[in-house]
Amino acid sequence: MCRHLAYVGPPVTLASLLIEPAHSLVHQSYAPADMRGGGTVNADGFGAGWYPEPDGPAARYRSARPMWSDTSFTAVAAATRSAGVLAAARSATVGMPVHDGAAAPFAEGRWLFSHNGVVRGWPRSVGGLAAALPVTDLLTLDAPTDSALLWALVRHRLRTGTDPGAALAGVAADVAASAPGSRLNLLLTDGTGIWATAWHHSLSVRTDQHSALVASEPLDPDPGWRPVPDRHLVTASPGTHRCIPLAGTPAPAAAPTIQGVR
Ligand code: GLN
Repeated sequence: MCRHLAYVGPPVTLASLLIEPAHSLVHQSYAPADMRGGGTVNADGFGAGWYPEPDGPAARYRSARPMWSDTSFTAVAAATRSAGVLAAARSATVGMPVHDGAAAPFAEGRWLFSHNGVVRGWPRSVGGLAAALPVTDLLTLDAPTDSALLWALVRHRLRTGTDPGAALAGVAADVAASAPGSRLNLLLTDGTGIWATAWHHSLSVRTDQHSALVASEPLDPDPGWRPVPDRHLVTASPGTHRCIPLAGTPAPAAAPTIQGVR
C-alpha cells in the first residue's frame, strides 16, 4: 500500500519532508514500518505536489520509477520550497498499470489528492458510482486505476462546492458501501488545510503552532505525532487538528458529525 503525506505551514524545502527526516517518504518507500499486509515496498512510482506561488495553482512532479532511484528529484527537492506539499510513494495494486499518470498526487487548481489503499472488486464494484460522473471525467482519468477514479469522485463533489471533509467522507462511505472491505485512506490539501481519512490503514497527524503534517507513518520520533483512529476523518491546519468518526464506526452517541457524512 502506498505511503503519503501532506504539509502546510511556513515554506520548507521538499527535501526537508521527503528526503531528510529519519523516516522520510523516501525511507518509507523502501523500508515502510506499517503496511498491514498490503505489500512490502513502495516501488511503483511516486509524486510530489507543491505551490510555486502563494495563491497560484499546484505544480507536480510524478514518475513511475522507485522514489529512491530518482537522484534528479533528490536535487530538485533540495532546491524547491513551498508552504504546502502533498507527496506519495506508490505500491501498485496487483493488476493495475504502472506509469507516471497512476502516481499521486492527482491535481486540479490548488487541490492535491492521494489514495492509500485498494477498492475491492475493482472495477465492477464501483461501476455504478463511476456511471454517475460526467462521461468526459471518465474519458480523462489520469489512469485506469481505483485511485484515479476516487479522485474523479472527490473532484466532482469539490467542483459543486462540497466542503472538502464532507467530500472525502461521502466518497469513502459510498465506495465502502459498494465495495466492502476496501481500504480508503484519502488525503487532500489546498495548500492551507489538510483533510484525510483513516479507513483500514495507518495514518498519523502532528500539528504545532505554525504547521500541520499528516502522514501514513510518522516521519521522525517527535512525541507530537498522534495516530488517527480507524474510520475517522482528520482535518488539520497550523495550530489545530480534529478527528471525527465516519459512518459505520461504533462511536459514542455524542460523537460530532459533519455535513455530508453518511
Ligand atoms: N490501489 C492504488 C494503486 O494501485 C493504491 C495502491 C496503494 O495504496 N498501494 O495505485
